[in-house]
Amino acid sequence: MRAVAQVYFPLGVREVAAMASVLVLNATYEPLNVVSLRRAVVLLLKDKAEILEAADQEIRAASCAIPVPLVIRLVYYVRVPRRVTIPVSRRTVLMRDRYTCQYCGAQPAKANLTIDHIIPKVRGGRTSWENVVCACKACNLRKGAKTLEQANMRLRSQPGPPRYVALVWLAGEPSHDAWNKYIPAHLWCDDDAPQDETA
Ligand SMILES: [Zn+2]
Repeated sequence: MRAVAQVYFPLGVREVAAMASVLVLNATYEPLNVVSLRRAVVLLLKDKAEILEAADQEIRAASCAIPVPLVIRLVYYVRVPRRVTIPVSRRTVLMRDRYTCQYCGAQPAKANLTIDHIIPKVRGGRTSWENVVCACKACNLRKGAKTLEQANMRLRSQPGPPRYVALVWLAGEPSHDAWNKYIPAHLWCDDDAPQDETA
């Protein structure tokens, strides 16, 4: 986030707390949450987390100066809630489907992606995780108000609710580039996400 770059040593935690958000990974390195800088610093000072990525700047925390954390990892495993209600929105559906048309696999600019109801609304189709997919404009037009069979189209995968809890948090958060490598695309999907409960 750009705001971090404007933070100059030696600002205190309070000065920068409102500016930055920090990605928290579980002990297993899976994205878990996004927290305020203040919360992240508390976790670090209590030795509950370690810094994986940091900005160039430092902040004064307690009696020491520490780098402004961008990504931290919890030392202890936190069990991920199994059921989380994630709102179905254009944003979250596009994220779940990795900005990829679920009919033809195209990845056009975000503005050219649409949300398609598999069972069309006019046929009683609901706006649910199971019934909406990301579609390019061409495929959406081709499908129109038809069913899959009528349109002779196939889905690349069976849609369902994204199980990964990080999506909830990340959906509404500005993110740092430093976060990207910790958020593998496959984690957004229900099908191939690893089980969280095993650790
Ligand atoms: Zn398409």
